[in-house]
Amino acid sequence: MPIIVLDPGHGGTDPGASGNGLQEKNLTLAIGLKVKQLIEANYIADVRVTRAADIYVGLSERADFANAIGATYFVSLHHNAGGGTGFESYIYPGTSPSETGIRQDVMHGEIMNFLSGYGVRDRGQKEANFAVLRETAMPAILLENLFIDTVNDANLLKDPTFITGLSNAIATGIGKSLNLA
Ligand SMILES: [Zn+2]
Repeated sequence: MPIIVLDPGHGGTDPGASGNGLQEKNLTLAIGLKVKQLIEANYIADVRVTRAADIYVGLSERADFANAIGATYFVSLHHNAGGGTGFESYIYPGTSPSETGIRQDVMHGEIMNFLSGYGVRDRGQKEANFAVLRETAMPAILLENLFIDTVNDANLLKDPTFITGLSNAIATGIGKSLNLA
């Protein structure tokens, strides 16, 4: 059975970004747990999370966890900050011709398909030397789901219907990229 590791970014003493009354660590956890539930309800897969509560987990610890259980796919959940707007996805530099890149195409397309209905800007499929992408032995992706410090983006992140739809798009993207039954 495929093993999917969902990685809600930040947690505990590391709140991540904040703005407009939102904290990144709370949003990533809420979405991570919802995506887990949706995958389990719709596909045959073993879904694990790097954290299921508001606790601090180091970046290497997250990657080590996925490596130790032989995960099939690692999906890290984050929200952007810095005054921009929109959605972007990241893979490790140079991995776009591999399975990692093929899955990014599917994931990014599925999520943008949902987000474009809300007029959310596509910032593109990107590459970065992030620890969780570098240290994971399996294909991995990191999602930056809108900007917490931009009012329009934050208003969407405060909308439960939007969060459910986004979680569903992430779950469907994972299902499609892994051809889950
Ligand atoms: Zn983050």
